[in-house]
Amino acid sequence: MKPNITTIPITEIFEETEGCPICRMHRMLEEQYVEYITGAAMMAPDVRVKTNEVGFCHRHFSMMVNTGPRLSNALLLQTHIDELRKKVFPKKDTDAADKKMIAAIRQNAGTCYVCDRIERDILHLLATVYVQFGADHDFRRQYADQDFICLDHYALIMGNVSKKNMDKKALPDFYAATNKLAHGYMDTLYDDVTHFTTMFDYRNAGGDYKNSKDAIERSIRFLTSYPVDENLK
Ligand SMILES: [Zn+2]
Ligand SMILES: [Zn+2]
Repeated sequence: MKPNITTIPITEIFEETEGCPICRMHRMLEEQYVEYITGAAMMAPDVRVKTNEVGFCHRHFSMMVNTGPRLSNALLLQTHIDELRKKVFPKKDTDAADKKMIAAIRQNAGTCYVCDRIERDILHLLATVYVQFGADHDFRRQYADQDFICLDHYALIMGNVSKKNMDKKALPDFYAATNKLAHGYMDTLYDDVTHFTTMFDYRNAGGDYKNSKDAIERSIRFLTSYPVDENLK
């Protein structure tokens, strides 16, 4: 089935509080798109034209390979490779690659069909978040109860809100809640990382780590939007 953002339940996403709510939205969307790309979209010529052109990032290639059928992955790669090789190499092996070819390789490295779709869909979902925050006091509480909003999504959610898409009376509450979830959380991370480092002082041997044991992992998740990848060594 084609991903349909109108079926993404905003309030359900905010009922959960672990981690960043926009990261959860992102995760839900990428799972849907990855399934769609290696499934129903195999038969959608317009989508194939686009995926042949822009390709996928490492993360989404990995998800596709780990969850999708082998044949779908091979067919997607076959047509993508064919289109790309015509763009990025000179006709004769004795010729140099021109600037356009080099630029095409660099551009290909920065484009991903799934990332592009998510970027667009998230903005639509945020529009719903803004309306709901303005209209619904229960939702405001749910919003404020989140663990944190990661730095990247803080920029996204703050950068797109305005009195055009949120009841302007709600804006100060929205700014306060959002700043607390990002700035407040970042201050806590600083304190936790600092406390963690002091535990290496022999004078603190046997002391209380408090909340600092996973301060490194939580900091990286906040700064990059993703948990530490344990497969990378
Ligand atoms: Zn996030
Ligand atoms: Zn991607």
